[in-house]
Amino acid sequence: WWGHIQMGPPDAILGITEAFKKDTDPKKANLGVGAYRDDDGKPYILPSVRKAEQILFNAALNHEYAPISGDPEYTAAVAKLAFGENSKVLEEKSNCTVQTLSGTGALRLGLEFVMKHYAKNKEIWLPNPTWGNHHQICNMINLPFKKYRYFDPKTNGFDIEGAKADICKIPEGSIILLHACAHNPTGVDPSMDQWRQLSEIIQFKKLLPFFDMAYQGFATGNVDGDAAAVRLFVEDGHQVVLCQSFAKNMGLYGERAGALTLCCGTAEAAAKTMSQVKIMIRTMYSNPPLYGARLVKTILTNDELRSQWLCDVKLMANRIITMRQKLREGIESAGNKHSWRHITDQIGMFCYTGLKPEQVERLTKEFHVYLTKDGRISVAGVTSKNVAHIAAGIHKVSS
Ligand code: PMP
Repeated sequence: WWGHIQMGPPDAILGITEAFKKDTDPKKANLGVGAYRDDDGKPYILPSVRKAEQILFNAALNHEYAPISGDPEYTAAVAKLAFGENSKVLEEKSNCTVQTLSGTGALRLGLEFVMKHYAKNKEIWLPNPTWGNHHQICNMINLPFKKYRYFDPKTNGFDIEGAKADICKIPEGSIILLHACAHNPTGVDPSMDQWRQLSEIIQFKKLLPFFDMAYQGFATGNVDGDAAAVRLFVEDGHQVVLCQSFAKNMGLYGERAGALTLCCGTAEAAAKTMSQVKIMIRTMYSNPPLYGARLVKTILTNDELRSQWLCDVKLMANRIITMRQKLREGIESAGNKHSWRHITDQIGMFCYTGLKPEQVERLTKEFHVYLTKDGRISVAGVTSKNVAHIAAGIHKVSS
């Protein structure tokens, strides 16, 4: 029955990890995968998460099913984290927020919901470039996607003029995907002033802003600052869709804690929307997993743990910022002629180095440094011990 099936392409990022594992060189470095590592290159369990684990263990909770839309205290806490304490949306209860299988699950559910229920132009515009899974999800659910200009390879920065020109041409009522902060793969975010300009055009074109927020707190170490674009859009009157993930900012990758919010304008519309989202969840996976959401809820609703968590996120963000500086210094002090300012200008977990595919190949072959072909490195994989070697490699292959 399955003999006609063709071999699918391997996952671009997980394939890199496979090759990395096989490499026996002691200087090898994996800058492919987007997971935080401590300065010894080890996975990191946040102290706030450790404490929450103890609290949960001592509470000896049962394993009954969660509600279809998830733990209500969790969804209330994460919506508050995203939209802010005094958000009008939350006050008027016009949000429909459900627990999801991390950020990817939120994207899939949100986009499926759009496919089924969005009454305007079922066409989504993605930034160019964007996280590879965005294209794959759209393909899987037959949602046509197009791209708007985002990254300017000349400046290694945000192409505001290109983006505005392209967004002006998007058919009215289409959907536009925006990375709330720490854009993956480029590490390039619009400034607040540029966000204001985008908000205005998006409103003028009556587009549906669909935010992917996988890195709240990771960009700057400040959870409110990193949510500023989403909050600005809400204040400007947009009815945003928002996908949240706690994979990176709480280090809960495998626990799959996320959320999807549809801002619906009124409490009545939110209740109706919720009824339909629940039907969709019920037919997909029935109800979400408990453990990750319990950890997140415990942290966000306990003042002491929450303060500890804010320190934990800051520590991760700061280590990444320091590694950016060291990497840049290392390449520049080797006498490299190119500009490497973008390494420290870009933010979040990733840096788009600007290396060409052949340079990436050399970096892997000659220096055992593993990264994606587009030249993206996960700065989380850079440590005090390997930064000099990585800088030397980048200098050599780009000279
Ligand atoms: N969106 C973006 C832009 C991401 O980089 C990621 C993580 N790589 C996600 C969503 C979702 O990740 P997860 O499903 O692990 O929460």
